[in-house]
Amino acid sequence: MALTATILSGFLGAGKTSVIQHLLVTGSGPGLFIMINDFGSINIDEALIRDRRVTSFALTNGCVCCSIGDDLERGLHEATVHGAEHVLIEASGVADPRATSDRLQALTAINAPSIVTVVDCASVQERADDYCGDIVIAQICSADLVLLNKVDIVGASGNVSVANWIGEIAPHVVSVPCVHGRVPAELVLGLPSNQKRRHESHRSESHDHSVQFEEARIRLQGAITIDALRSLLAQLPTTVVRGKGFVLVKGRGWMLFQLVGRRWSLSPADAPMDVRGQLIFIGGPGSASETSRVAECSLLGSARPN
Ligand SMILES: [Zn+2]
Repeated sequence: MALTATILSGFLGAGKTSVIQHLLVTGSGPGLFIMINDFGSINIDEALIRDRRVTSFALTNGCVCCSIGDDLERGLHEATVHGAEHVLIEASGVADPRATSDRLQALTAINAPSIVTVVDCASVQERADDYCGDIVIAQICSADLVLLNKVDIVGASGNVSVANWIGEIAPHVVSVPCVHGRVPAELVLGLPSNQKRRHESHRSESHDHSVQFEEARIRLQGAITIDALRSLLAQLPTTVVRGKGFVLVKGRGWMLFQLVGRRWSLSPADAPMDVRGQLIFIGGPGSASETSRVAECSLLGSARPN
C-alpha cells in the first residue's frame, strides 16, 4: 500500500504537540509513524511523545522545509522498515509546509501529503503582522485544514473574528475550532489533500530561518525559583515568541515550562534525562544574545547561557 502523509504545521507555540498528544491518547490506529522536527536544538516535542506506544523519529539539525535532507530520508526509511501506512510530520514552527511537502515527494513515492495547520487564536493575527508574518500567512494559505486552537482563551467572538480573518486570506481553507488540540484523529490523519487548490493560493518565497529567527539556549544548574523565572520573563526581548524546556523549580520538582507570546505556564512533568535543565527561547534577530544576558542576570548564577 502506498504511504500517505500529513504535514502538521503551525507557528511556534500554536499547539502542534498537543494535537499529536491528543490523537495518541484517543487511539491513532496501527501503522502510524510520527516524525517530529523541533526548531530548537533540543527535541522537547519529541521527548513529550516519546513514551507513547507509537513509533517516532526526531528530525534534528535544522528545519524540515529547508535544511534537513538526510534525516528526512532516514525517517522515511525507518517508517518503511516499521511497516508504516501513514506518516505524520510535525514540521518546525517556522517551516513552510508546502516546501516540506515538495521535499517529501521528491524523496519518496508518496501521494500529495495533506497539510493541517494549527493556529493560536490568541496570537495569530498579531504574529501575522510582525517580523514572522510571511511564514504565518504561508502556513495558513497552504493548509487543507486549519485548527483554530485555544478558542477558550479568546471566547466565541474572538473565535469568529479569527475564522473570518482566515476566510479572507485563505478562502479555500476549512477551519475548525478546538481547545488543547483536541480534534478527532480522523480529521488530522484522514484528510484528503487538495493540492490543486493549494497551488492557486499564495506562494511564499523560499526563506532562510537563520536570518529571521535565533535560539537562545540556557543551561540551568540546580533548581530555580519562580521569582527568578518571572524576572527573566519580564526582561525578555519583545521579539521572543516561544520558550520551552524542563526546569527544576525550587519546592516543586521538575516542571515543563512553556511560553507562547507573553503567556507562560509551568506544569509537573517527567523530565527526560537528556533534555533536563535546559530552556530555549526563540526570537527575532539579536534576541539570542540579549536573552542570554538577561538569563544570566535574573537566574543569578543558576543559569549558564550556551
Ligand atoms: Zn525551513
